[in-house]
Amino acid sequence: MIHDALFYENVNDKIHCFLCPHNCVIGHDSYGLCTVRGNKGGKLKTINYGEVASVNQDPIEKKPLYHFKPSSMVLSVGSFGCNFACAFCQNYSISQNKAKSEYVSPHKLVEICSSLTNNVGIAFTYNEPTIWYEYVYETSKILKKENPNKSIVLVTDGYIQKKPLEKLLPYVDAMNIDLKSFNDEYYKNICRGRLQPVLETIALASKHCHVEITTLMVNGLNDSMDEIEKISSFIANIDKNIPLHLSRYFPTYKMKQPPTDINVMLSANKKAMEYLNHVYLGNVPNLDNSTYCPECKELLIERSAMNSKLYVDNNSCPKCGFKLNIVF
Ligand code: SF4
Repeated sequence: MIHDALFYENVNDKIHCFLCPHNCVIGHDSYGLCTVRGNKGGKLKTINYGEVASVNQDPIEKKPLYHFKPSSMVLSVGSFGCNFACAFCQNYSISQNKAKSEYVSPHKLVEICSSLTNNVGIAFTYNEPTIWYEYVYETSKILKKENPNKSIVLVTDGYIQKKPLEKLLPYVDAMNIDLKSFNDEYYKNICRGRLQPVLETIALASKHCHVEITTLMVNGLNDSMDEIEKISSFIANIDKNIPLHLSRYFPTYKMKQPPTDINVMLSANKKAMEYLNHVYLGNVPNLDNSTYCPECKELLIERSAMNSKLYVDNNSCPKCGFKLNIVF
């Protein structure tokens, strides 16, 4: 449904939206780059408020979040629209098109979540949750008020301005943030964004909630060891216990080159582990993606496909007492 949007100002006869770093200036009856926020009679309106295009109960590992409430299920919802236009987007049918959707009010979504037994909360995912801002914010506030034990998760490109992010963070428990590259040209040419705002989101979010990072390694474009080193070293400077998910690219949407070489994935894993305590490979079969204590190498969480077997129930290693970055 159409709903009042936040974070804008009127500039002459146009609207300046400052929800995300695109800073769109929108003329009458036009939309911003995300295609879901538009100028209607001099007011900024969002057209995807409560419009749910996808909903599922997913294993939390699928987000991917490996160190947050492991082995639990999360109600995963998404709408349509995105502020990026990644050439390799797996969800382009909802991110780049106005997908078929159904209105679900914030109260209704909270009610659905609260009625589920095997559930830790709501994940806003599939399309970009930051451009679904007003709905995500309202729903998160209600869930936290009515059911404080449930969690809010965002799976995001991290392309949001500081002010709206700071307003939302008190209600967010965990985020998986894409760090798509460490090269601004890549962000510009492949994703229609910029690197620096994403780095700032990661740094700020890490101070407020549990954060994991995902990098899709695209064959020949961002899979050099130099780039993996820059990504890992940036994350390690914030906290070397932040998990990094290196995901293998397969051709999709506008990106046609062959899948990323498995040997490159394995080398990237090794390189990232020089900086970080937890690196996981996605879309690579027959690989040990279990979690081990960084100090004594004790097996903590055994993972196969989306199933996890836990050998730890608090954030200390049961063998050596090392403080772990795992939220239970
Ligand atoms: S949220 Fe949408 S309209 Fe607003 S600045 Fe970003 S892309 Fe533009």
